[in-house]
Amino acid sequence: MQKFKNYINGDFVNSKTGKSFTSIDPSNEKEFAEISLAEEFEVNTAVEAAYNAFHGEWSKILPSKRAQYLRAIGDQLKHNAELLGTIETKDTGKLFKETKFQANYIAEYYYYYAGLVDKIEGATLPIDKEDMQVFTTRVPVGVIAAIIPWNSQMFLTAVKLAPALAMGNTIVIKASEIAPTPLLEFAKIIDKAGLPKGVVNILTGYADTCSKLLTSHPKINKIAFTGGVHTAKHIVKNSAENLSRVSLELGGKAPNIVFEDANIDSCLEANLRGGFFNQGENCTAVTRLIVHESIIDEFTEKYLKKISKIKQGMPDDMKTEIGALISKNHFDKVQNYVEEGIKDGGELLCGGKSCPNLDGYFFEPTVIRIRNTENILFRDEVFGPVVSLIPFKEQEEAIFLANKTDYGLAGGIWTNNINRALKVAKNIDAGYLWVNTYGGIIPETPYGGFKQSGTGKELGEEGLEEYLRTKNISIFMGDSIPKWYGDN
Ligand code: NAD
Repeated sequence: MQKFKNYINGDFVNSKTGKSFTSIDPSNEKEFAEISLAEEFEVNTAVEAAYNAFHGEWSKILPSKRAQYLRAIGDQLKHNAELLGTIETKDTGKLFKETKFQANYIAEYYYYYAGLVDKIEGATLPIDKEDMQVFTTRVPVGVIAAIIPWNSQMFLTAVKLAPALAMGNTIVIKASEIAPTPLLEFAKIIDKAGLPKGVVNILTGYADTCSKLLTSHPKINKIAFTGGVHTAKHIVKNSAENLSRVSLELGGKAPNIVFEDANIDSCLEANLRGGFFNQGENCTAVTRLIVHESIIDEFTEKYLKKISKIKQGMPDDMKTEIGALISKNHFDKVQNYVEEGIKDGGELLCGGKSCPNLDGYFFEPTVIRIRNTENILFRDEVFGPVVSLIPFKEQEEAIFLANKTDYGLAGGIWTNNINRALKVAKNIDAGYLWVNTYGGIIPETPYGGFKQSGTGKELGEEGLEEYLRTKNISIFMGDSIPKWYGDN
């Protein structure tokens, strides 16, 4: 069995208590890794290391050197994409062709932020006073706690780590206890990239004995969280201890509106990826396919035909097109949602059960036609390969359906009428929309949800703001300060 340690202050360490836990390969239910469990001592040591690095060596490092470190992380990701992909696939059931591709592509996020380190400017302010010169500078926030879920770890780490380092912050990254080995392996990349000790620390542990302590630690200045809405509410409470800054990237219930004039072939192709990439364990996954009533029958027939050809199988086989769900618990949750959706009046069109002839947690690509917005599949995030299909008549109805959710992360619009596309895009209350394509979040574009999908932005120049503070400096240029207290 492979063994993984926590990475604290530049060393790979076992936990002080000697406790460890095992990780299971969801494609065959076998234990494959033993992981050292971080608790109070490790959290405190990691935060202390990040705090000392922030106030010490890291604070003196010039932007160009920070850019070199970011490029070195990107290069190491590319060199180690195969190994990282293999480990992530084993721990999560995600396809090797996806994990390897992602580890390789994620390098671009580090290169992008390397290019921004010396482009952040303060301002000279045109104030309404004589003899005063006022300007602002941008300074780092301090020590960041990054809480990462299990589903897309290289991406969700890069969107926090790259801007944090670019702006001169230090960080403690908490990997999900459900599948922590990809990030513990990634720690070796950080080590090879040669960053000073303590600048990046990576550990894993349980919510109560690790994550809560980290997010309420008095030396944490900002929490960057990705995960579920319920957990986010705890995170916000934890942050109150220290009044830390918080950004939240949460769940989604993405609508994809298909008008009658859409390019159906492109739309079907994009929807296969939108719904079933990463087994649907994506916060931006297409989960509500809202199709014009005049084409829904033809659309459904072609869609189901394509789905029937998707190859489900072992995630490390390059021919496989959909892998295994993360855990038994999650599999049961997905199965339960499908059963509830059918009880709520949904019509099962395909899938809805485990995959025959495979031992692990494989759930078939599932489509359910629903007839009312009260159906649980219209409301709740399933986080599996389950797409609900619902017809609409008028444009206004499509917009209404798209917005009838507590979430507002992402969505798609399919039409060849540009006026219609723009009008609908303007009216959908979500943070990231695609028109005539779906999926793919690139480094230059600000990403983040509205409503219960979160607060704050990751990526783009806006993503840097989360890791910066503005300092105002006012200079009096006159000969003497005007008197206020008379002759004393
Ligand atoms: P989760 O909320 O259960 O756990 C996320 C992390 O929070 C884990 O590391 C966990 O240890 C930690 N945690 C749990 N309870 C905590 C507490 N009380 N205090 C502090 N930390 C705590 O999420 P998950 O099941 O790992 O991931 C799935 C969720 O993540 C889905 O809802 C999905 O939509 C969301 N997600 C969002 C995005 C996005 O970019 N918006 C991306 C990926 C996943």
